Amino acid sequence: MEKLKIMKIQQDAEKMKLVTLAFDQAHNAVMMTDADFNNGGPFIVYCNSAFCQMTGYEREALIGRSPSMLQGHDTDVAVINSLRQALKNRTFWEGSTINYRKSGEAYVVNWSISPVFDENNLLTHFLSIQQDITSRIEADRGRNALLKALDQANDPVLITDSRETIVFVNTAFEKLTGYCKEEVLGRTPRFLNSGEQDAKFYRDLWHALKNRLPFQARFVNRRKDGSRYYVEQSIAPVLNEQGNCTHFISTSWQVDDIVEREKVLYAMATEDKLTGLLTRRAGDEALTRAYHRYLEEHCPLSVIICDIDHFKAVNDTYGHLIGDRIIEQVAKVLREQTRPDDLVIRWGGEEFLVVINAPILTATNLAERLRKAVFSLKDEDVGRLTLSLGVAELLPEESVEQLLGRADGALYRAKRNGRNMAVTAAGQNTSGTMLSSTL
Ligand code: GH3
Ligand code: MG
Ligand code: MG
Repeated sequence: MEKLKIMKIQQDAEKMKLVTLAFDQAHNAVMMTDADFNNGGPFIVYCNSAFCQMTGYEREALIGRSPSMLQGHDTDVAVINSLRQALKNRTFWEGSTINYRKSGEAYVVNWSISPVFDENNLLTHFLSIQQDITSRIEADRGRNALLKALDQANDPVLITDSRETIVFVNTAFEKLTGYCKEEVLGRTPRFLNSGEQDAKFYRDLWHALKNRLPFQARFVNRRKDGSRYYVEQSIAPVLNEQGNCTHFISTSWQVDDIVEREKVLYAMATEDKLTGLLTRRAGDEALTRAYHRYLEEHCPLSVIICDIDHFKAVNDTYGHLIGDRIIEQVAKVLREQTRPDDLVIRWGGEEFLVVINAPILTATNLAERLRKAVFSLKDEDVGRLTLSLGVAELLPEESVEQLLGRADGALYRAKRNGRNMAVTAAGQNTSGTMLSSTL
């Protein structure tokens, strides 16, 4: 019997050794106190290496002392009181507070304390498992500060996950778009598309996002109420340590004012003040674009140069203002007699250029129609007006300058041969058509 008892004690001692070893290697800090509340207790009876490391104290400096040695002026008294109450009630307790290392440095510790009872159900100890959560709290604090900063930024910010699901929008985004957070979180940002950007724009955007490249462009987006707004927007992938894209962050700034100003400037630069037709400069650019389309798509391209006859006499007889009115009236007729896709350009003072995607026969017929329409105008002061016109279709291998030169030559011949006529340029195949003149 005695032998069995000794064996059990030996076994218990082995177990204790194993438990102590295990505790000593545990990642979390472990500390045990007795359960004696007298004389400033309970006191520490055991602590593991992680506990020593966390507190900065040697084990010898901790054993026999009260854990209150780790508290300081920022330790929350209410938390400590609730802990002491739980100890007295012999119940499990969990909480966190600020403690101090030996160096005086504060740390935030999360603890749980369990009462330990012996086989006779007598309270003998308290076992405390602790974790230093200072860095986690600081990271959280950093993240929160960052989110707060993003939220309060003046410019709209939108964050999606890698599958383009919106996970964050800030207050500026809500203000700009009229959508509140709840309405957009979990959706893709496509509902903002105004449909005003062409396929190439979206191709470029998706190409960039797919390849995890940043993308910056002017976006025309749509608010909740359907109205358009313009933003300079940049979208950047957010990569994790492994280089994988976890999110996309989109920041933008509103450029409605700039776009409005640009529109005014563009109109000023492209719209002739007196007639509302294209200016010579804008017309030139539009003609070049039409020429490139001709080269790519081989659609026919014709021009008609129109010049008001004896206009100098109008100015001399009736004055400049009435001269202006005549220019306006002729411009109006040209616009009315042509299609929206045709270009009508104020080419010079009383000279106009009409550009159409049509062959010479159509162009010549149009020129004749324009001549007749102007002829039928009867100004209350000036009376009847006439127009001379030169018509040419772009020939293969010809440049825009050569085309205009031939049309000019035809106009010159129309003037020389009596005015009030449309003349087709040299070099055009005009067989089988009724022309007003093919001199
Ligand atoms: P032609 O039949 O040979 O074309 O004779 P024309 O008198 O029309 O010819 P010309 O090109 O010599 O005269 C054009 C005149 O148009 C000269 C210029 O004073 C006038 N002019 C040019 N721009 C304007 C304008 O904006 N307003 C007014 N009122 N006159 C203009
Ligand atoms: Mg003239
Ligand atoms: Mg002229």
